[in-house]
Amino acid sequence: MKIAATIAEARTLIAALREERRGSEQGNAVGFVPTMGYLHEGHASLLRRSRAESGISVLSIFVNPIQFGPGEDLDRYPRSEKADLELAEREGVDVVFLPSVDEMYPQERKTTVTVTGVTERLCGASRPGHFDGVATVVSKLFHIVKPDKAFFGAKDAQQVAVLQKMVIDLNMDVEIVPCPIIREEDGLALSSRNVYLSSEQRREALVLSRSLREAAERIQSGESVSPRRIVEDVTRAIQASPLAVIDYVEMLAFPDLVPLDEEHGLSDLRDSGGSLILAVAVKFGTTRLIDNVIMKLKEAALHV
Ligand code: AMP
Repeated sequence: MKIAATIAEARTLIAALREERRGSEQGNAVGFVPTMGYLHEGHASLLRRSRAESGISVLSIFVNPIQFGPGEDLDRYPRSEKADLELAEREGVDVVFLPSVDEMYPQERKTTVTVTGVTERLCGASRPGHFDGVATVVSKLFHIVKPDKAFFGAKDAQQVAVLQKMVIDLNMDVEIVPCPIIREEDGLALSSRNVYLSSEQRREALVLSRSLREAAERIQSGESVSPRRIVEDVTRAIQASPLAVIDYVEMLAFPDLVPLDEEHGLSDLRDSGGSLILAVAVKFGTTRLIDNVIMKLKEAALHV
């Protein structure tokens, strides 16, 4: 496994591997997993998928300052370079790109990638500028790594929707591959931010996955229930946890992220085989957690 601290090194290493593995059995396609480090099983699942689907596997670890708003957790975001590199090695990563902030943003930046529409709700609404930061850094990373496929977790479902839109609109020659959410045995979605939680907050945070799962089961069971009722019931379940402060509970068409009763009536969505997302963001103390469930409407019974 090679480690690149600079953009030039990353380009040289990846180009050499492309050359070396041309015509080899596993091929020389580049699979890419961008992360902010403090790696866990969720990241590992993406790396495994990248390894399985690509001859060359590249990981980036970069805590991207421009996707954090004022007052967010940039300064205390957890880091553990040694453990991250060990995990990367175990997962068969070929190149780790570990740039500094100066390497990625050496001068005043005059270019920002903004994706509109799909950024209007959910985290786009509660974290202004966040997805500009994400789209800008991911497009920079794509220009550096030049991946054939890039692997992202459905844990950040809106991020997947934003990046899928970006690569289509800007004709980027890379496939965005969404991967399932990896959870603890008790249901909590893995997140680098889970380390911030006290044991009491950790216990109460289970309400997120539990209420989402219950809602998904109700929808799929064929019960006659409206999207509004689902949102109300999930909201009530979360509010029953004294430590939980809700940022949002929303049910939208996926990946367009518009309300189900506006551009996409439920019947349109069902006919087109479209999907819906039920997504939550909830604060426990200063720690903001997100979780979601995505369902195909064809298999789900949902009534207006
Ligand atoms: P982060 O380091 O938080 O920026 O995440 C890097 C990538 O890992 C993103 O594509 C996330 O969606 C993905 N990821 C984070 N947590 C999970 C999880 N629990 N399951 C699957 N993917 C995840």
